[in-house]
Amino acid sequence: MKGFSVHMFRQSSKLANVLYDIRGPVLEEAQAMEAAGHTILKLNIGNPAPFGFEAPEAIVQDISANLPVTQGYSDSRGILSARRAVVQYYETRGIHNLSTDEVFLGNGVSELITLSLQALCNPEDEILVPGPDYPLWTASVALSGGTPVHYRCAEENAWQPDLEDLESRITERTRGIVVINPNNPTGAVYSKETLQKIAEIARRHGLIVFSDEIYEKITYNGVELVNMATLTGDDVLCLTFSGLSKAYRVAGYRSGWLAITGPLDEAHSYLEGIKLLANMRMCSNVPAQHAIQAALGGKQSIDDLVLPTGRLGAQMQVAYEGLNSIDGVSAHRADGALYMFAKLDVEKFGITDDEQFALDLLREQKILVSHGTAFNWPRPDHFRLVTLPSVEVLTEALERLDTFLSGYRQV
Ligand code: PLP
Repeated sequence: MKGFSVHMFRQSSKLANVLYDIRGPVLEEAQAMEAAGHTILKLNIGNPAPFGFEAPEAIVQDISANLPVTQGYSDSRGILSARRAVVQYYETRGIHNLSTDEVFLGNGVSELITLSLQALCNPEDEILVPGPDYPLWTASVALSGGTPVHYRCAEENAWQPDLEDLESRITERTRGIVVINPNNPTGAVYSKETLQKIAEIARRHGLIVFSDEIYEKITYNGVELVNMATLTGDDVLCLTFSGLSKAYRVAGYRSGWLAITGPLDEAHSYLEGIKLLANMRMCSNVPAQHAIQAALGGKQSIDDLVLPTGRLGAQMQVAYEGLNSIDGVSAHRADGALYMFAKLDVEKFGITDDEQFALDLLREQKILVSHGTAFNWPRPDHFRLVTLPSVEVLTEALERLDTFLSGYRQV
């Protein structure tokens, strides 16, 4: 028998530039510490359920009731009633050019992000991705063989996209612009004017807009999200991504959608590619598809949670005040999502490696945060804090962070 060699089990070279460090070595260390009996304060993953956010009852009931009758595959795009619910929902939001044929249901938005990029990118293609970004976008562009090109989101401008920088990065190889709004990791929500300008840039250069709106219902401070597809109209191809993981607190059910609007005739080849890949994975989790109609049609219980008096609103405020009260830390007020992207004074703390900073914090104070470079941020001077834990846990974590930093010097 032939002997084994490391070479036989090597991973694909396709993965050479694929990074997803928010579930990387720091998390592994935290898991090892937990296995050794330590209690870790987790401020690292935007997964509402473990923090005591229960799903609306109608969703759980709908899934349970449908379990006996959803044993088979569905249409690969998804069940018609759910796709209709998505169309009707967007109709009420001011998107009037969407049909059920252009709605694809997926195992979370994640699957649809990778699928839509796999169907598009050739090796020479470039996709503009925000920096910082939710790293699945950069990773999926790289996995699809394309090249992610990061445009700057300006911290000094409350993390709004720097449109001059964005436009300056467009080349004849650019195919699309990714917009994450509300943004993970910065919590920024983009104004209508900014979105209009992005739509205009896309129109001028013939680019696709990928609008990741998974946090669309999670906004604070009276800010309301404008759906990108209300501005891209019939002449810009817009792929809108959203789903149930965050606003409906059922990340584990894996239920999301992709809605495509714009010049569909011209996009025929790309749409056929998306259909082909959707067919190849048969369909998404069918019981979870049934939750979509119940979710979109029912009372939006998230509305109460994001009020200043609601749990999410109150926690966001505590995180904002707590971070800014620590010497050497500053953070913008987030208008949406579940995160703050806080800045560290690297001179003061001598930080040259932010992953090491996260590891040191974890080992010393048992707090788990995600380091900023995991979000394709170019400098080691940020970290992301999840605002899902209760006010008590957040307060405790921020106190420990303060204690840690008061004596911290990396080099
Ligand atoms: N897009 C963004 C911006 C996210 O933050 C996340 C999850 O954190 C996802 C997509 C993935 O969501 P899903 O659970 O629907 O796959």
